[in-house]
Amino acid sequence: MSVEVEALPYAYDALEPTIDKQTMELHHDKHYATYVSKYNDAVAGTELEGKPLVEVLSNNLAGVPDNIKTTVRNNGGGAINHALFWQIMGGKGGTPSGSLGQAINSTFGSFDAFKAEVKKAATGQFGSGWAWLVKDGSSLKVIATANQDSPHMTGMTPILGIDVWEHAYYLKYNNRRPDYVDAFWDVVNWDKCQEIYSS
Ligand code: MN
Repeated sequence: MSVEVEALPYAYDALEPTIDKQTMELHHDKHYATYVSKYNDAVAGTELEGKPLVEVLSNNLAGVPDNIKTTVRNNGGGAINHALFWQIMGGKGGTPSGSLGQAINSTFGSFDAFKAEVKKAATGQFGSGWAWLVKDGSSLKVIATANQDSPHMTGMTPILGIDVWEHAYYLKYNNRRPDYVDAFWDVVNWDKCQEIYSS
């Protein structure tokens, strides 16, 4: 097997009331687990089997055979995006400190300006996708990607990602994606984001 399903690092109800238990159960055990298993099925028996996922996705999947490229893009992207997503939640929100907090302030002007930028990316993404804080070389950027495209595909390192697929928020927030994005900040694990930023 190439990629493993990463266990949720907290209980399914740990993000209540921001993200409800049922959403987390479905999101982790069904949606995410399906990306992982479809990815593993696609690469089984190919030269990609056992290769680190980040390498497979890099260079816009240049090393992936055409006949499995779309499947690997969607499901490999889904696997790597969600593995990060579980890690960067489960915290107490607040504001980032340390070198990441400083870099956010100097790049975006303030933490509030940064959050506004992320909200614009998250609500401006038409249909399914993600809003991200990424490291691009030595600079920080806020970007959005469609579907399960990962910043790793274009050589950027994601530090924080907000899943804006409806499966991430629809049970509790229905069509109100902006409310979900506003609430999301309450569960961010900034220590984990700092760890990723520093590594
Ligand atoms: Mn998702």
